Amino acid sequence: MKLLVAVKRTIDYNVKIRVKSDNTDVDMANVKMAMNPFCEIAVEEAVRMKESGLAEDVIAVSAGPDQVQETLRTALAMGADRGIHIKTDIELQPLAIAKLLKAIVDIEQPEVVILGKQAIDDDSNQTGQMLAALLNWSQATFASNIVLSDGNAEVTREVDGGLETISVKLPAVITTDLRLNEPRYASLPNIMKAKKKAIDIKSPDELSVDVEPRLITLKVEEPPKRESGVIVESVTELLDKLQNEAKVI
Ligand code: AMP
Repeated sequence: MKLLVAVKRTIDYNVKIRVKSDNTDVDMANVKMAMNPFCEIAVEEAVRMKESGLAEDVIAVSAGPDQVQETLRTALAMGADRGIHIKTDIELQPLAIAKLLKAIVDIEQPEVVILGKQAIDDDSNQTGQMLAALLNWSQATFASNIVLSDGNAEVTREVDGGLETISVKLPAVITTDLRLNEPRYASLPNIMKAKKKAIDIKSPDELSVDVEPRLITLKVEEPPKRESGVIVESVTELLDKLQNEAKVI
């Protein structure tokens, strides 16, 4: 079985996000970047499927500028077999990514595509669903457990208030939730080996995909600052504040 894993380069999740002073975007200057955490979980799951003999070929694909090759190298160091870099400097939105991934699926013919459930920079949570629609494939989103069997995937999904287990026919698009697995750290020997693995470079034009942005961001703002708390002397004072200041009861 062939698996395709989509990996996005995002701001490192430990970095405190700053907004540009003109409120047009997040400030990306000199910010540490890393693989989107949900994509790390996707790579880990694909590599585990390979290690357990369910898959033979794990292909990591990333779209974006030259720097996304670092993210692909991380995926290769974690155990992916080869990478595909769709090279573009244009800002990519979920529909464009889904179309690019569909073009790669048409070439590579994997049985399963695994994506993160969302990218932590735009929080769109759209690409996997759009890709499944474009391919007319089954989809199982927010996976916290995946069992592949003959022609099917049994996927446990984290839904409001509990877990839901569904069975989808392969080929399928699966998106990963936080509790699916704990991604490994790449060992030094594997980082060295990853340098020799192949990364194929393609362009959106070659894939006949128009990636022009369709959405315009009007404004980016930081969340309002939290006001500092106060210590109340008594329950009566607390009730009074809740009633007359916060007006929540
Ligand atoms: P989103 O719909 O933007 O929240 O992203 C969901 C998932 O789509 C990510 O976790 C990735 O698996 C995939 N994805 C988004 N952007 C890219 C990209 N530029 N290259 C490869 N995969 C991506």
